[in-house]
Amino acid sequence: MGRNLVCRRIRINGIVQGVGFRPFVFQLASELGIKGEVSNTSRGVLIIAEADQEKIGAFVERLRSQAPPLARIVSLEIEKQKVDGYTSFRIAASSAEAGRATLISPDVCVCRDCLEEMRNPADRRFRYPFINCTNCGPRYTIIEDVPYDRPKTSMRHFTMCPRCQAEYDDPSDRRFHAQPNACPDCGPQVELLDARQAKVTAGDPVRAAAELLAQGQIVAIKGLGGFHLAVDAANDQAVSRLRRRKRREEKPFAVMAASLEKVAAFALYTEAEARLLESRQRPIVLLERRTPPVLAYQVAPRNRYLGVMLPYTPLHYLLLEERFPALVMTSANISQEPICIANQEAFERLAGIADYFLVHDRDIYLRCDDSVVHFCGGTARFLRRSRGYVPEPVFLRRKITPVLACGAELKNTVCLTKKDRAFVSQHIGDLENLAAENHFRKTIDHLRRILDVEPACLACDMHPDYLSTAYALSQDKLPVIRVQHHHAHIAACLAENKADGKVIGLAFDGTGYGPDGTVWGGEVLVADCKEFSRVAHLENFLLPGSAAAVRQPWRTALAILLQVYGKRALELDLPLLRQVDQGRLAVVAEMTRKRVNTPLTSSMGRLFDAVASLVGLRQEAAFEGQAAMELEMITDKENFGCYPFQWSRPQQGPWQVRIEPIITALVADIQEKVPAFVIGARFHATLIELFTRLCLELREKHHLDRVALSGGCFQNRILTEGLAAALTKAGFQVLTHSLVPANDGGISLGQAVAAASCLAENDI
Ligand code: ZN
Ligand code: ZN
Ligand code: FE
Repeated sequence: MGRNLVCRRIRINGIVQGVGFRPFVFQLASELGIKGEVSNTSRGVLIIAEADQEKIGAFVERLRSQAPPLARIVSLEIEKQKVDGYTSFRIAASSAEAGRATLISPDVCVCRDCLEEMRNPADRRFRYPFINCTNCGPRYTIIEDVPYDRPKTSMRHFTMCPRCQAEYDDPSDRRFHAQPNACPDCGPQVELLDARQAKVTAGDPVRAAAELLAQGQIVAIKGLGGFHLAVDAANDQAVSRLRRRKRREEKPFAVMAASLEKVAAFALYTEAEARLLESRQRPIVLLERRTPPVLAYQVAPRNRYLGVMLPYTPLHYLLLEERFPALVMTSANISQEPICIANQEAFERLAGIADYFLVHDRDIYLRCDDSVVHFCGGTARFLRRSRGYVPEPVFLRRKITPVLACGAELKNTVCLTKKDRAFVSQHIGDLENLAAENHFRKTIDHLRRILDVEPACLACDMHPDYLSTAYALSQDKLPVIRVQHHHAHIAACLAENKADGKVIGLAFDGTGYGPDGTVWGGEVLVADCKEFSRVAHLENFLLPGSAAAVRQPWRTALAILLQVYGKRALELDLPLLRQVDQGRLAVVAEMTRKRVNTPLTSSMGRLFDAVASLVGLRQEAAFEGQAAMELEMITDKENFGCYPFQWSRPQQGPWQVRIEPIITALVADIQEKVPAFVIGARFHATLIELFTRLCLELREKHHLDRVALSGGCFQNRILTEGLAAALTKAGFQVLTHSLVPANDGGISLGQAVAAASCLAENDI
């Protein structure tokens, strides 16, 4: 040794902190006989390694190939350095260098080793609900700043006992520098309180809570990113009671089951779905339910699917132990408000809903809902991208100017970019009240802090009334770029697919601000990230009462009937005209005639609503898109042919997809008593065939052979799978979402890249 001794400075960037990376480096160095040191910096991990060339080569190779399970290496840079003559390898103290390029890990489900210890009566953490190690546990939701060290997390209030400290300090220990490390002697504690906030004196609060759940009580449970409301999913009465109290009469509840075997009793899953359920992100996966339903019908009324997840915290495992087929685990909020996180806040907001509260004294720094994923066309796609995935970035094609994009109004997320990475926030929710707005602001501040980015510009929607738009416009020091809603949808799809250049974009959703004063939503664009032109759209129809039409699909259906049949519409023999009160029909007909609070729209979502109303499926909706979703649920997947369709090609302006031929054929079907599942199938098939043909014609005209699909309507599996297959068959390359949701949760990403493209152009 000594003769060909070299020294290398190795900088590793990515998710390398709080994931056991330094102990891994330490052990690898010891094994190879490398001297030097490793330290955490706010730019990542820095290694000084001295050994001969060959060993260094082996060292670097194994750093890449054997990194710990949670680590994600984005870059590894090696520089030569003068030999210093280290005599050992050590883990040096963290330094707070300027610049904070380190990626924070998302929260990760409890690992197998920790579970084993928790179940071992001889272990000192037997049944301890906060057991964790460097391979598992909370990250994003407890961290306030970087670098990721205990004083910068919500664990700073808990001083480690000597035994925990010894584990924390020992490089060979699984808990070496595990920031949330704790035990029953020194860490957070759970307690069970009743509805009056009085402590329930029971031996083991978790056991007592499980007992109450078994008796049909509703228990609010403090988790990783917020509170859940839990109830025994097999208990009809208890689930119905929760539904009544939560004022969320219709939206499906998610359930949590102890294991895949338990899931198999009430839902069907494929191998890929099982892998996703068991992944360390532990999302809610939509699975086809067994028929007849095994769990309470009220868990997910009128739904073919059930949102299912496996336990992800030690507390969940303790609660579920063998006894329940599944627990309902639904975000503990009054509908539309973000998930509760502070204990006091939970007591206030959940008063009258929860019978008991299972709480603990570790703060949740940041709210983070469960992620929701479904399989569509063989690919896992997000309906909500949140816990387990955030704050992992979406990697972009190239480095862009730092942009803060404020998202849309419903299902809001924000996005902050840094170089070639776009950090899309967790699901913030519908920006319709103060609580949501606060959550929105806090998330922006938090992202800016942990990423240390000063945005050069803000991006927002064109809608003047969105809270997110108002926020962007109020930041007076920065330029604001307003991005049209459907352009943002398509740009998001391009960004996550790293696609460049122009495409045909089909942007189908419920609502988006159109620059022409109408409500857009059934849009065919020719677009790249920077600009778009609207080449075709659904023919406009009226939306009587605007927002009221979203809650009452019959209003749109009536307006469409009046548009197609004139006054005759009210004399047709249709379920809709029998199900809705005559007086109300007359009022809305009049409203439509006079155009009072009745905007024009080309919304695909509203067309789906109207069809659901026409076939008599649903006249009132408890949440946006419910009628459309139920139409998908009853639709048969067989081929029943399709309705006639056409589009007009005016000299000026976009092509118009006529709705009249579709509606007349569909109404004839209804009058001939064709079953709704057949009508649903024909309607879906019509759209698939229509837009495939339309894209073929656009291909001739614009010489584009790529089609991007985005917008909330592409949560509809029949539409997405059908259209993607038909377009592919027609020779198109089809771009779809799999990294961010197709719905408005993906808008912020699109806004960010669209704004950055405009800036790049202006710079030149
Ligand atoms: Zn662990
Ligand atoms: Zn301890
Ligand atoms: Fe949208």
